[in-house]
Amino acid sequence: MAVETIGVLGAGQMGSGISQVCLASGFRVVLNDVSFDALERARGVIGKGLDVLVRKEKIAAADRDKALAALTATTDLSDFASCDFAVEAATEREELKISLFRKLDGIVPEGRILATNTSSISVTRIAAATKRPERVVGMHFMNPVPLMKLVEVVRGLRTSDETFAATVDLSRKLGKEPVPANDSPGFIVNRVLVPMINEAVYALSEGVGKAEDIDAAMRMGANHPMGPLALADLIGLDTLLEILHVLHRELGDPKYRPCPLLARHVDAGYLGKKSGRGFYSYGKE
Ligand code: NAD
Repeated sequence: MAVETIGVLGAGQMGSGISQVCLASGFRVVLNDVSFDALERARGVIGKGLDVLVRKEKIAAADRDKALAALTATTDLSDFASCDFAVEAATEREELKISLFRKLDGIVPEGRILATNTSSISVTRIAAATKRPERVVGMHFMNPVPLMKLVEVVRGLRTSDETFAATVDLSRKLGKEPVPANDSPGFIVNRVLVPMINEAVYALSEGVGKAEDIDAAMRMGANHPMGPLALADLIGLDTLLEILHVLHRELGDPKYRPCPLLARHVDAGYLGKKSGRGFYSYGKE
């Protein structure tokens, strides 16, 4: 079934990026959030992102205007009734995602695919909240979405071959490289990446090095493009903590225990770049 209109649920860092990429690829987007502020911020971020593409001569100015005109920002989830494909990118909390998928199931036309951009939560469990588990799939974009090539396409236990293939196809239409992953906590990227970042937070809390030095060491010593603590701030410390809780709870291995210093930062509202302060300060707290 052809996809023309994509519903993006959640207008945070990921929802904005996913919307931008969908618009730049010629799709109409219905972007939903509970927060007007988030929708306004997202509109600004998407506009700036499309301006960059015009400056780099990747799209014409007229295409940017057309793309912006194809964006509907709404706090009313029933607007997803016009969508041919939905991607959920709301806050990383299982009970929230399950309740959102129940709602999506009643709104998005039957036979259409419901994808989740979850970083770690079981796609199978989210799918079980709907009456169309064979049409629920993980579509895990990377941050920042416009720059990162990968989309992990995650098969839940009941995801059909047709749903998987259609999601791979859509990922390619968005200019991404899909990689298949099975439904295991954290999938591939976060199973490997997040314990490394957690270890960097332990190193910081145990005084092995200052944040700048841990990051510099990993950039120069392991050839990482950015240090683990700066990456933690980019991901969002609340999201990171939630992923660690999922890994720890579901895999039951103490090696995934979230560093208490990470939890303290989240308690303090230091969520990383998006809140203006995390392990570093971004001057807009
Ligand atoms: P974020 O905190 O920037 O944004 C989350 C948004 O969800 C907020 O705007 C919030 O208002 C909205 N929201 C919360 N409840 C809602 C509801 N009931 N209905 C509609 N909107 C609601 O978080 P993010 O970094 O964009 O992450 C979103 C999802 O993407 C999470 O599942 C996360 O794990 C995943 N993800 C994040 C990254 C990353 O690096 N940050 C990478 C890949 C995947």
